[in-house]
Amino acid sequence: MELLSYRFLYFTIVDLIDVVVVSFIIYKFLSLLKGTRAAQMIAGLTLLFIVSFFAYWFQLQGLMWLFTNFATVGFIILVVLFQPEIRGALARISYSRLVKYFYRSAETASIDEIAKAAIQMAELRQGALIVMERSVGLRDFVASGSKINAGISAQILTTIFTPYTPLHDGAVIIRGDMIVAAGCMLPLSKNPLYMHSHGMRHKAAAGITEETDAVCVAVSEEDGSISIAKAGRLERIEDQTQLKDILIRRLQEK
Ligand code: ATP
Ligand code: MG
Repeated sequence: MELLSYRFLYFTIVDLIDVVVVSFIIYKFLSLLKGTRAAQMIAGLTLLFIVSFFAYWFQLQGLMWLFTNFATVGFIILVVLFQPEIRGALARISYSRLVKYFYRSAETASIDEIAKAAIQMAELRQGALIVMERSVGLRDFVASGSKINAGISAQILTTIFTPYTPLHDGAVIIRGDMIVAAGCMLPLSKNPLYMHSHGMRHKAAAGITEETDAVCVAVSEEDGSISIAKAGRLERIEDQTQLKDILIRRLQEK
């Protein structure tokens, strides 16, 4: 069915759907990139795109040759360069509403214990880093630490993070209702926002949530603050009595 026509140009319902779908994909793509390292690259790529457009418009042979070659090799370079971002973005796309009903995230009682442990450790200025697995498996990160396989309790968590003990260094990983590992090594965030303003623990908390859909709790030994990281963003918890509720919300939402 035609919606508009001008001489030989016709705009049909199919075209309208086409435009809406393409706009939606571009919008989703840009919102996935927002706040990541890739966002800065987009500006550069847009400039390259405009230059290549003019190269074709004015038939600049040399530039056209350069861009044709860059397009093939450039694509592979971009995939290699942004492998962690692509992995994170795909993980978030596949995390559909349907999948949500099947993954096992920590039960409310366990979240209560995690929140209690974090508040106790914050009071004692005892640093901690706790990662909660969701739909993306954290096997590689579990393998970097020591297996624990214990039920979740505030006592065990505060014991693990007691300074000068063998397992306090690194992150604890939680899967469902189990503490599966401690002393795990996490990837550091590549977000320039956190480059100079945050220490390693907080960069690791943001980093693991950039690459996976995990939720991470960090307790600072320096200032006793508690932060929650999700999708690469660190959120400092101002009112610690709200910690459990915020954690539950972060674990439930997409
Ligand atoms: P804090 O506010 O507690 O001092 P911070 O963000 O300043 O935290 P650092 O002081 O640099 O962090 O590091 C503190 C601890 O964080 C380290 O001793 C280590 O146990 C843990 N940590 C650092 N990097 C990582 C990592 N990549 N993966 C897991 N744990 C890490
Ligand atoms: Mg520090």
